[in-house]
Amino acid sequence: MNILVLNCGSSSIKYQFFDMDKEVALAKGMISRIGMTGAVLTHKPFDRKEVKVSGEILDHIVATSYVISILLSANHGVIKDKSEIHAVGHRVVHGGEQFTQSVLITDEVMSEIRNLIDLAPLHNPHNLRGIQACNKTLPNIPQVAVFDTAFHCMMPPTAYIYGIPHVLYKKYGIRRYGFHGTSHFYVSERAAELLGKPLNQLKMATCHLGNGASISAVNRGISIDTSMGFTPLEGLLMGTRSGDMDPAIILHIMGREELSLHEANTLMNKHSGMIGISGVSSDMREIIDAANAGHTNAKLALDIYCYRLKKYIGGYAMAMGGLDAIVFTAGIGENSPLVRELTCQGLDFIGVELDKEKNSTAIGKEMIISSDSSRIKVLAIPTNEELVIARDTKDIINGIIK
Ligand code: ADP
Repeated sequence: MNILVLNCGSSSIKYQFFDMDKEVALAKGMISRIGMTGAVLTHKPFDRKEVKVSGEILDHIVATSYVISILLSANHGVIKDKSEIHAVGHRVVHGGEQFTQSVLITDEVMSEIRNLIDLAPLHNPHNLRGIQACNKTLPNIPQVAVFDTAFHCMMPPTAYIYGIPHVLYKKYGIRRYGFHGTSHFYVSERAAELLGKPLNQLKMATCHLGNGASISAVNRGISIDTSMGFTPLEGLLMGTRSGDMDPAIILHIMGREELSLHEANTLMNKHSGMIGISGVSSDMREIIDAANAGHTNAKLALDIYCYRLKKYIGGYAMAMGGLDAIVFTAGIGENSPLVRELTCQGLDFIGVELDKEKNSTAIGKEMIISSDSSRIKVLAIPTNEELVIARDTKDIINGIIK
């Protein structure tokens, strides 16, 4: 079974095309600048060089037809006929309380995803646009929605209820939902495999550190708490998002600076976090370079980043009543020995012993990076959210998930 996985953003579509009988990606790529000048499709078949195609890609419908064309193309393609695309799996960011697992997309499911736009105005509309585009470009091919929130659906109310009047939870669904669920799920399963222990016997802190970042307490395979909340703004320090802060701060700044709701939202989501503190960049590589070159606020941003992560790991160890493994993933977690080292520094008192040599060689590959005697194991694991989406899509088509 061949499955096309789509991750649709406002002006971009990332895709992977899988042969799910062998569980291999035949091609992957991305379209950026949809609806803008200079739109470009970057495509990489598994056995040939990467190619770039530019064009007038005005909307998601045109974008998906570009993806299909290149999958079919004589030089860069991996299939000969559209009928070799058997299903499409979509990343959908917000599944609210309704969607606790992946689902086959029907008109009813689409309208429920539409009803959730209020909870994820920056994500769900674009995810829906991708689904609508496939309805047009790949009619009659089954589509499946895989939700970022679903892995966190078993969190107990103690973890997801905020300290505000309960009526607001009932009225507006204000609660912790959590995000990056497919990633936390994938790396926790892989970590158990690498450690050679059943997932249901392990307590893990999984750290997804990309441009957005979140940490989950995965207790025996179940996410019992996670740092992102009602929106992806809460929790860890991120590239451009503040993460945790006293909510009164924003009211104070809005008053002093006479900011509108929109401006306040932009301040917290786009101008805060590492870029806000350092004034240098939201990109961890540039933060590290600047810190090494003696930039005081870049060093401060890096230190706050790792300090906050360390605090969360400690909190989740308490929440789970123990900790067997810390897992690092996504751009920063997979590639930055320094961030992993600063985060694990001083944790020997609970049994974390990072192996410096292993840590420095674990760049973009799966490795146990703690010493053999470390009671709590530390792992670096490249995430693979697309594979989780493809697996769920296959299971839904085969009737294994109902
Ligand atoms: P997204 O959340 O957009 O998918 P990624 O998972 O690709 O993002 O992560 C992007 C982050 O990873 C950026 O901050 C980038 O600087 C960081 N990163 C990538 N490679 C390295 C590296 N070698 N060292 C430190 N940070 C890195």
